[in-house]
This record gives sequence, structure tokens and C-alpha cells, in this order.
Amino acid sequence: MRGIDAAAVSLPRYRLAGEAVEEAWGRNPHREMVVPRADEDAFTMGIAAAERLFERGIEREAIEHVALASTTPPLDEGLFAPRLGRALGLGRNVETSEHTGSTLAGAEAFSRALDADGPALVVVSDCPAGDPADGWGAGAVALLVADEAAVGVPERAWHADEYPGLRYRERGSEDVASIGVTTYERDAIRECVTGAASQLDSIGSVAHAALHQPDARMPGRIANDLPIDDEAVEHGTVVDRVGDAGAATVFLGLARALGGADADDRTLAGVFGSGGAGAAFVLDGGLDVAGLVDGEIPDGERISYTNALRKRGVLDEEEVAGGGARVSLPTWRGSLDQRYRLRAGRCPDCETVAFPPEGACPHCGSRADYEPYDLPRVGVVRARTVVGQGGAPPEFAAQQRRDGAYGVVVVGFEGIDATLPAQLTDCDPESVAIGDELRAVVRRIYEQEGIGRYGVKFVPTA
Ligand SMILES: [Zn+2]
Repeated sequence: MRGIDAAAVSLPRYRLAGEAVEEAWGRNPHREMVVPRADEDAFTMGIAAAERLFERGIEREAIEHVALASTTPPLDEGLFAPRLGRALGLGRNVETSEHTGSTLAGAEAFSRALDADGPALVVVSDCPAGDPADGWGAGAVALLVADEAAVGVPERAWHADEYPGLRYRERGSEDVASIGVTTYERDAIRECVTGAASQLDSIGSVAHAALHQPDARMPGRIANDLPIDDEAVEHGTVVDRVGDAGAATVFLGLARALGGADADDRTLAGVFGSGGAGAAFVLDGGLDVAGLVDGEIPDGERISYTNALRKRGVLDEEEVAGGGARVSLPTWRGSLDQRYRLRAGRCPDCETVAFPPEGACPHCGSRADYEPYDLPRVGVVRARTVVGQGGAPPEFAAQQRRDGAYGVVVVGFEGIDATLPAQLTDCDPESVAIGDELRAVVRRIYEQEGIGRYGVKFVPTA
């Protein structure tokens, strides 16, 4: 049966405690919330989750469809699925679909992948904006959808009915709004999700349920109208650890539920989209989910409320005066394989590897065309420096105000002559020493002429 054959989750490293929000706002939305850094967004988190799938031995070339879902794609107009394909090194002939506009986006992407032919990659990645008191969260899930899958999807159902005024974002605005009538909102969520789920023939035999969870109480309220017990609901609830991760929250809950499910267990996913729609899926079986630790959402590093505001860009209001190195878009596009895939070149005469793959061979001086050669995604620190406050070139000034001093390293690779310079991320750069092992991650490098540009940075593996 077609369904989910592999799954992976990825979360940013930092966490904000609910108590810290309570001190500032008198309201504690969740026990803990995931906080993305300045260089993370729905795109970079999605890449990180998908890379975890490929680490499990899934063939990049086999993917025929990519379905991407987020309520907060980094652009209002302009596709990100092609960037995802490029960043992941997928084939150029993949069919893409992109789903946004509400928290139902993940269900739409999943359904689209179930209807597609051949192996499909689903990426649900989100970090909604808004007030911290509303429970900011972030996270990403990647699913491989294929025939004869470990987890089959025998049934799905939908329900749609207009409910205006719930969780919407005006065109051009970053902030999520709502008329805020909570009973009305709860009723809408219950009606839409149960309206879909109650159509499923196998609803009576569900052992785990991942239900729409803007807060930790909502899944239980939905389940009250369905033949599902509290324990089943607990297995699929992650909002207390992750925060409100928009379209990704139910899928993070589903990943946790499938990670704990036995081969003959049945799981329900119930998704809600503001505006008035619900979707429900029945999933049969369990999976070993990459990125979970002992089947649970991994712990992160707690940071202060002020630090979290800074990372989310709330305290970032100064504009940086121009300057900095200008790189034209065609030039940038020409370097995408270097930026994403660490594409170097191997000299056909002496096999020396050069990065970037330009000019004459640094070893034998040959001017023959380099053969494409992708550097390993794990390397070691050969040199390191820390760029302190005020020392950054203008294109990195905004990042520095949000994330603080950053490290720049020269990365080397065992048995390879080539080295490359890159930024460090997700760590205290002072704690990184020569010889430490590093892993490549795709992050936002900077924005130029209003266009976000992405490429590889490095994170310590230890
Ligand atoms: Zn050579």
C-alpha cells in the first residue's frame, strides 16, 4: 500500500521556557518553545529534515515529486520547491508542488504525494510569526511517500465549511491575526477535524492520534467527539515541547506517534486549516523516525527571553546602511552547487581536488576541465576566527545583531587537499577548536537586494 516509508524530524537548537514568557506576559503558552536562529527559516529547517532522510540511504535520484508545505514560506510569491530540489541535489525533472495559506498545508502536501506516481518527498516546515505569548514554535518533518510503504495510508477524508475570522494574516503583514473568540475557534476546529475523522471506517481502532494542536488542550477536546482515548492523544501531542509550529505541529506529533507505534497499530492524523477545513488520515504501522531521541522530541539549549526575541528578529529594527560585497544573482546562481552541495573539482591529470573548482590545478598546473567532485559533508577545523560586534561586513550585520559574534572557519577534509572557508552556526564559536569535527548544514547566508541567499555553514558534531 502507498504510504510513508521513511520519516525524519529536524528542530532548531534553541528553546525558550514557558515560564520566561510568563514573566514577561503573564501567560505561559507552552512548557517549552523551539526558537529558530536568524539564519534559520522554513526553507533551511526543511532541508535539514530532508537531509536526515537521505542519511538513511534513500536515493536522491529516485525522488519524482517534491511537495513542500509551510504557512511561512520565506517569500509571499516565488517558489521554494525548486530551491529545495537544488539544495538537496535532486534530479532536475522532479514534479513540484507547494502548499501554503493555512495550517492545512501539510495535509494538502501529504495528500498530493499520496496521489503522485513514484517516490515522493514531503517536507512540512514552519515557524509562524506573532507574539511569543501566542506560543511561537518551529520545526520540520520530511516524509518519503512510496508504494509498498512501511506505514500504509488506507483511508483519508476531508471536511470544509466556512469559519471566517480565525487565525489569518493580511496580505503583506507578518503577524497572524484572529478575532480571538476562543469558543468559536474551538468549535470550528472540533467541527472540521471531527467532521473529517468521523467519516473514516477504521476510526474505532485507533491507538495513537496526532490532532491539531495550537495548545496542549485542543487535541483532547477534539478527541472527546471521537472514539479515541487520552493515552492515544498523548502519543501524538508535541506542542508542549515544540510550541506552535504552524503546519508542522501535527506532522511532528505524527512522527512521534509513528515512532512509538507497533507494526499492527493504527494512527490517526487530524489536521485543521483556518478558514474552515479539516483533513484526517489513517496510518497503519510504525517507523523508526530519524531525528527523534528514544522516540521523543530531542532536547535543546535553553536561552533567555531577550535572547529569544533577538534571534526571532523582534529586536532587530535598525537598518544597515548599504555597502558590502555585491554578488550579482547570475553569479550567485552559478555557484549554487558549491554553496549547497560543496561541489569541488578533481583535476583529471593528477586527481587533486580544488575548491572552488576554478583556474589551473593548484598541484600540477593543468588547465584541463575539472571533474565534478562533491566534498564530504563532515570535515575538521583547520583554522578558526571569531568576528565580534562591529567587525562584520555589512551583509552580516543584521545576523550579528540577532545571533551575536559568529565564527568563521577553514574546513579541511581527510585525504583531500582542498579546504573551504565557512561560517559556524548553532554554537559558541569560542568553544570550537582546531581539529574539531564539523557537519555541513544549509542556512540563510544573507539577504542582498531583497533576496535571501542560502548556502552551507558548519555545526560541531560533538
Ligand atoms: Zn592536477
